[in-house]
Amino acid sequence: MAKYIFVTGGVTSSLGKGIIAASLAKLLQARGLSVTIQKLDPYINVDPGTLNPYEHGECYVTEDGAETDLDLGHYERFLNSHTSQANNVTTGKIYQTVINKERAGDFLGKTVQVIPHITDEIKRRMLLLGKGGKFDIVITEIGGTVGDIESLPFVEAVRQLQWELPEDRVMVIHLTLVPYLKAAKELKTKPTQHSVKLLSENGVHPDVLVCRTEEPLGNDIKRKIALFCNVKQEAVIEAMDASTIYEVPMLMLREKLDLICLKKLNITEYSEPNLDKWKAYLDKLKYPKSKVTIGLIGKYIELQDAYKSILESFIHAGAMNEVKVQVINVHSEFITKENVEEKLEGLDGLLVAPGFGHRGIDGKIIAVQYARENGLPFFGICLGMQMAVIEYGRNILGLKDAHSTEMDANTTNPVINMMEEQKKIKMMGGTMRLGAYPCEITEGSLAHKIYSATTISERHRHRYEFNNDYLDQYKDNGMVMSGVNPDTGLVEIIELPNHPFFIGVQYHPELKSTVEAPAPLFVSFVGAAKEYNDKKGSMKSAALQDALI
Ligand code: GLN
Repeated sequence: MAKYIFVTGGVTSSLGKGIIAASLAKLLQARGLSVTIQKLDPYINVDPGTLNPYEHGECYVTEDGAETDLDLGHYERFLNSHTSQANNVTTGKIYQTVINKERAGDFLGKTVQVIPHITDEIKRRMLLLGKGGKFDIVITEIGGTVGDIESLPFVEAVRQLQWELPEDRVMVIHLTLVPYLKAAKELKTKPTQHSVKLLSENGVHPDVLVCRTEEPLGNDIKRKIALFCNVKQEAVIEAMDASTIYEVPMLMLREKLDLICLKKLNITEYSEPNLDKWKAYLDKLKYPKSKVTIGLIGKYIELQDAYKSILESFIHAGAMNEVKVQVINVHSEFITKENVEEKLEGLDGLLVAPGFGHRGIDGKIIAVQYARENGLPFFGICLGMQMAVIEYGRNILGLKDAHSTEMDANTTNPVINMMEEQKKIKMMGGTMRLGAYPCEITEGSLAHKIYSATTISERHRHRYEFNNDYLDQYKDNGMVMSGVNPDTGLVEIIELPNHPFFIGVQYHPELKSTVEAPAPLFVSFVGAAKEYNDKKGSMKSAALQDALI
């Protein structure tokens, strides 16, 4: 019988509920338990697929093609296991299910109401992953902050489950903030007290308080919080700001968050935590031997969350290469032929990011050309790969108006074209080519060297593809299509053999990079950037030597 841990948040948003949930899950997993995490989001969109990255950050795609909240990325990166459609539920999904049932006549004669119908559907989803015996523990992160009108039905569902399930099958962790007032030189517990009071008014009493803080809490503060919030002192957990999110499991281990949960849930069979791989990774992460600088060319660069999985993949790949990867954001909208050299100066590699729509396209194409002509390691993801195809078409194949029909529907050279099955689709949500698809790799190619495999599977999120009518022209002019979908013939990987490292992929390798299994493409790209940097260094010292002589 699975046990359920709910994580709520108070005081303010952005306290890092997802990281706390993922860290706890990691510790429980390291003690031999099977754990999964799900996120319940209170907004009315059915999923975040139709949201602008400025609104919601990256849209994370699962193996089975769900467009989900970026916290699911953290869960996968920490646990090294896959999530699915069922791991992200929104108010929109809940209402859609209930309203569909109503239309089907399932509630015939009855008034359909928030309580019990909506809360029943929320509870069904909360318990779903725990059915079937796959998991010992299901952690559910409730999005939003306690007190928000829209999260009330979720909190009410937690209240009902706390009442319905045996005491040792359910617990609630509340994440709060203990601010430090510089002027008073004091930590303040009042916001936490108020937040717990608010939660209690909704009938939910937390078993554990995780307190985000810039300063150590100390026993006095812990005692005070415990007394006023009615929890055991050992259940007041200090969550100090960490230098990296990957440090948080170690901080939680020190605070015994896992043991407190195991005790509350009456789980007695567990081992000492096996965190060897995690610690080895942290060591490499903390003590890099050198540094490389990568330019991330995108159009949402003001918001770091828009490229969350890419940035995390660089952290994983950096640790593997024992280098610190410094990512410089370059706004593609402001790159021109005249300033490209200056904009990309000092970089050891160039990543052209995924994206949609016309804005910033020209800058991306110029950046690709610069990387291609100057032997700068290049890595294009999804739209980034499509830009590389367009650039090559225009500048090498001489197709002056080569373009994607996404940006120019009337181009006479649609080298990137809408996929056939996409053409009849009118609805926006969940209708792209989504999730994992196989890809066959040509032996002897760069991709083959990177993956050491001839069949791989990677996740997708796109509507457009390389137009195979141009296949021969590209091949004849030196571009290698080294990865192809075996069922559809869709080009998945392009590369240039006469370049130190030039690769573009139609899929999103960043979605599968985890601490324990970093994405091979990122690892090799960072490796190539390192080589480029080393060469630059030796050229500089040779020039210096010459000058001295
Ligand atoms: N807009 C492009 C397409 O739909 C690329 C999508 C992406 O980069 N994820 O094909």
